[in-house]
Amino acid sequence: MSVLKRNYQTVCAAVRQAEAAAGREEDSVRLIAVSKTFPAEDIREVYAAGQRDFGENYIQEWYGKTEALADLPDIVWHVIGDVQSNKTKFVAERAHWLHTVSRLKTAQRISAQRPSAMPPLQVCIEVNIAAESAKHGVVPEEAVGLAKEVAKLPNIQVRGLMCVAAAEVGEAELARQFGRMKSLLADLNAAGIEADVLSMGMSADMSTAVRCGATHVRIGSAIFGNRTYGEPSETA
Ligand SMILES: *Cc1c(COP(=O)(O)O)cnc(C)c1O
Repeated sequence: MSVLKRNYQTVCAAVRQAEAAAGREEDSVRLIAVSKTFPAEDIREVYAAGQRDFGENYIQEWYGKTEALADLPDIVWHVIGDVQSNKTKFVAERAHWLHTVSRLKTAQRISAQRPSAMPPLQVCIEVNIAAESAKHGVVPEEAVGLAKEVAKLPNIQVRGLMCVAAAEVGEAELARQFGRMKSLLADLNAAGIEADVLSMGMSADMSTAVRCGATHVRIGSAIFGNRTYGEPSETA
């Protein structure tokens, strides 16, 4: 068995295990395989092992992969990186999900550019739950307000909230941040937005996220291996 296939099966088992440990229903957590920096052929291999949802951060790089993998009709593309305004069209035309909405203007552009034949783009509002200046996302207090505005756009459906929790913090602090996300989702529902998604949890903090209510976990390195180059700038 290939390394990728073995890693993939190990991660699937870990997610099922986290569900069971948390008393969550089996298959209630969806795995997004984060393939940024890895070639289309790696995605093809993990797809062949059964995975359908893939996450990508860098629009230019991702767009090339959508071309290379155009023969996989049921692949589901999740954009999980920042979208600059000159890249919104790619997202509007190729993505199924966008997890990182933090500006109304970007959402407006994407809604306007979404082809009418496509179903609404499924989006999450990104929350800067760790309150770190280097992280993207709105402060928690602004999440409901932004979600209400984005929900009015015709070609976008607000599905919930996304975060990247702080790295290098203890279990208790992680649980506090994920718990805050869960209560923000309840606030969204109370505000009349039928949102059901909590996109949180990565390779290092997946099981805590599942315990705290994650519905979508985004796992990269545990499947594809360590990334050998950093995070290229979109403008480079
Ligand atoms: C890279 C990335 C992931 C996956 O991280 P791993 O630590 O490789 O599992 C998840 N979410 C976002 C937003 C990312 O940028």
